[in-house]
Amino acid sequence: MNGFIKFLGTAGARIVVTKQLRASGGIWLSNNNTSLLIDPGPGSLVRALSSRPKLDPSSLDAILLSHRHLDHSNDMNIMVEAMTEGTFKKRGEIFLPHDCLAEEPVLYRYLQNSVEKINFLAPGKSYILNDLEFNTPVSHIHSVETYGFRFKLPGNLIISVVTDTLFTEELIAAYKPTSLLIINTVRLKKESSSPIQHLSIPDAERLIQEIKPQMAILTHFGLTVLKAKPWLIAQDLTQKLGIPVVAARDGWKLELNQFPLSEGKG
Ligand SMILES: [Zn+2]
Repeated sequence: MNGFIKFLGTAGARIVVTKQLRASGGIWLSNNNTSLLIDPGPGSLVRALSSRPKLDPSSLDAILLSHRHLDHSNDMNIMVEAMTEGTFKKRGEIFLPHDCLAEEPVLYRYLQNSVEKINFLAPGKSYILNDLEFNTPVSHIHSVETYGFRFKLPGNLIISVVTDTLFTEELIAAYKPTSLLIINTVRLKKESSSPIQHLSIPDAERLIQEIKPQMAILTHFGLTVLKAKPWLIAQDLTQKLGIPVVAARDGWKLELNQFPLSEGKG
């Protein structure tokens, strides 16, 4: 199948984002005739336009927001303005949790009228966008209303993006089966005493082991993961689990026509 995923950023959590140790533009997914952007954090517009080849926000069909935190939503307004060609063209859809448009909306009111449709996410709900179907299987445990995404692409390719959350056993069943598993991995170690509700490397390992995707991608790195060199962590997990695990890099483009991976690769 034709399509790609491009990482406009791989930064997670405040320090890595505010110091821009990694970029924070979110994930761009294109499939045949449909393009969408997940979690346009700070710099998303600049990263899209400075990509080679350029990713044109006015070609987006939708912008998806997993939750309202700034590292995910900062460029929401400007990306909607770009998607709608400066609000002159009413087009595109947005998908986001209810609390994103509550008393402190992450999308300005004048821009809410410029898109074709606003869709609110809910646990277990499915959505159709052109030839692409996706769902938000479960509510994530995070300090604000949060969801991950599970995309069903033609050719039985299932891509899951497990966004910010505390680890729970429920995540395994929610994202199974998945061909390509993308995991926001903010923390190096599991620290049960910590109030920060994020996945750690051991959590990611458990998810990969149980869900058994063809490939797993780690992204959204916090400082502890970054210091431990994510590519070494990914190598280690690949050996341990016998499943290819890749640490995403800023600007990395993954072509989807290599899926399903041939035997022996996975
Ligand atoms: Zn968050």
